[in-house]
Amino acid sequence: MADVLFTNARIFDGSGEQPFKGDVLVQGNRISRVQRTGFGARPMPVNGTTVVDVAGAFLMPGMIEAHTHFSWNDQPTLDSIQRMPPEEHILWCAQVAKTYLDMGWTSCVGAATAKPRLDVVIRNAIADGTIVGPRYLAASQEITVPGGLGDTTQPHLPQHEFAFGAIVSGVEEMRRCVRMFAKYGVDSLKINLSGESITGMPSEMSQFTDAEVATCVEEAKAWGKRVAAHARSTKSIKLCVKHGIEVIYHASFADEEALDLLQANKKQHFIAPGLAWLINTCHHASAWGITPDVARRMGYFRELEAAIETMKALRRRDVRILPGGDYGFAWTPHGTNAKDLEYFVKYVGMSTMEALLSATAWGGPMMRMGENQLGKVQEGYLADILLVDGDPLADITVLQDKSRILAVMKDGEFHRAPPMRSGARTEMTRWTA
Ligand SMILES: [Zn+2]
Repeated sequence: MADVLFTNARIFDGSGEQPFKGDVLVQGNRISRVQRTGFGARPMPVNGTTVVDVAGAFLMPGMIEAHTHFSWNDQPTLDSIQRMPPEEHILWCAQVAKTYLDMGWTSCVGAATAKPRLDVVIRNAIADGTIVGPRYLAASQEITVPGGLGDTTQPHLPQHEFAFGAIVSGVEEMRRCVRMFAKYGVDSLKINLSGESITGMPSEMSQFTDAEVATCVEEAKAWGKRVAAHARSTKSIKLCVKHGIEVIYHASFADEEALDLLQANKKQHFIAPGLAWLINTCHHASAWGITPDVARRMGYFRELEAAIETMKALRRRDVRILPGGDYGFAWTPHGTNAKDLEYFVKYVGMSTMEALLSATAWGGPMMRMGENQLGKVQEGYLADILLVDGDPLADITVLQDKSRILAVMKDGEFHRAPPMRSGARTEMTRWTA
């Protein structure tokens, strides 16, 4: 891959500063120079470099999705995820991985897989170039209790193949389960610390004992793995803080004490609320039998209200809130993930700048790659870059439109190259501002 020089860009560098006009040089898989247009600008090297005049397009870091389920199959029930045969399922995951990259998500954090090794196989296939997809962290199945979210077995069909989660009871079963997923090569263990109303176990219920949670975390950390939790109830959020569970999904029902705990430990945690699931289950699932009335009876309206208040409070307390919202159901299909940024603006009160930063600023640590690697267009960072036709700071919804995402670069290579004229010096011709 030749080095690439983007010229005449409107650069959103991910630092929180307003965008500026300038050029970006990518050498190998890193960003080697970022230069503002204007007095004192040094000439950039062009020999042997593909020069792309982006004609004023918005150039920004690739986005990071914090709660991804490649194996959820855009169906209306949890059961239909699990009933998909493994052969079709792995092909589905590969196709979904490409969709994320198409939509500008250059990094994704697996938040649970439906069969034991789907995530691991997909991560490895992306990493070795067999398939295209974002940088990916592979998750375990949802570790759950009998009757909890993830236990889709029937009393007369108790075989674990009928469950999309891994069902454990007691400390030794937990230990064995974590060891099994560590053996398979996951990056993170997903534990369901609270219920989920659509399963019949309410969101505010939390069944795992303290000893079971402690064993999960202790064993995971001994293997160098991360733990992420499905945690809607107050009790489950507090368990996450107590046991140092880094990634907290949902966190809807945080009481004052839980908010204080999260604030006091904000460097240790990432929160991905998954508002898309709540919003769309309440308002956009009628075609699949979940009318607003049904959703209300399930408790989802009450939870949506609580989740919005919690996220507003966490935002005020400067806790890290990231996009990723259980996409992969019929009413939250894969590829529509940038709606999370719109929801952050519309429901949580973030500015468009904050929403963009929520998808970029914590890329390195969220992907377990340390600081100064991902999420910024700055010298030395990995070259994960998007070109956008439009201004997400003026209208955050442009990121939902694939036709407005003109180019996607991951690791210094174009997944989708911008439209260009042929010739040594190339220009984007789609729009000339
Ligand atoms: Zn999830």
